[in-house]
Amino acid sequence: MSRTLLRTIGVRASAAAIVLLGAWAAFTQTQSTQTKTATRPATTQKVKDGLYMISGEGGNVAALVTDEGLILVDDMYDRNYAAVMGQVKMLSDKPIRYVLNTHQHDDHSGSNAQMLAASVEIIAHRNARINMIALKQPGAPRITFNDEMDVHLGGKEVRTRHYGRGHTGGDAVIFFPEQKVIHTGDLFLTRPTQPYIDYANGGSAIEWTKALDEVLKLDFDTIIPGHGPLSDRAGLVKWRADFEAMRNRIQGMVRQGKSKDEVSQTLIKDFGWPVGGLAIGQVDAFISEMKNVR
Ligand SMILES: [Zn+2]
Repeated sequence: MSRTLLRTIGVRASAAAIVLLGAWAAFTQTQSTQTKTATRPATTQKVKDGLYMISGEGGNVAALVTDEGLILVDDMYDRNYAAVMGQVKMLSDKPIRYVLNTHQHDDHSGSNAQMLAASVEIIAHRNARINMIALKQPGAPRITFNDEMDVHLGGKEVRTRHYGRGHTGGDAVIFFPEQKVIHTGDLFLTRPTQPYIDYANGGSAIEWTKALDEVLKLDFDTIIPGHGPLSDRAGLVKWRADFEAMRNRIQGMVRQGKSKDEVSQTLIKDFGWPVGGLAIGQVDAFISEMKNVR
């Protein structure tokens, strides 16, 4: 979820969805008001020894403290940089050395440019970088990976892994093996609880659950989700089942030749998707993907 995304959705909202446009306009207006005024202050919660979750306006940030500096996962919006740094300084007087992005949305990687200016190295999946460049989003990482990369600092280890397409085409799940914690980015949310499939940037409903199946093979007990409170293995298992049930329902509707409006209404009424742009922007691509499933 991001401003860039909302602009994309705005362009892609079609005349067929005209009934919903009033609500959509109200939704985007709320977003732009928030953009001007901002911002929820950030707070920090201990997850495990040496590992913290910083919550605030943007996506959840993980902070691993080591004797040689910190490793962050994600850095919220550009306008949240000071709030994030304020929390980091309470955890350690050492510098941030690395930020690992979970994907390109600017509520997760928006402070990249300021991090780079402060000599922090940004690491992301190569497709996340490609998306950032295409979206003209500042702060593209100088270091990217294809499938996996490990970062070792101060005797601690963090692993970033790409398990295929899902929320976007460049998702990374970050694993803290010693702490048995993962940061899923927006592949898993605890608030809101509806997935956003960013088709314009490589997302896929079919591949999403395959990625989660791989994530579930990791040895973890605690999850820092993209947004919302901490969760655990059972939370992710339920999310995956709910996602699959939603996808099967829509796939069935598509096979029965139901209209785009019927699909939209089902997503809104039965699966709680936002009436605004989030549901509308995904429906054409979602239907198209479901049509191509054998
Ligand atoms: Zn996102």
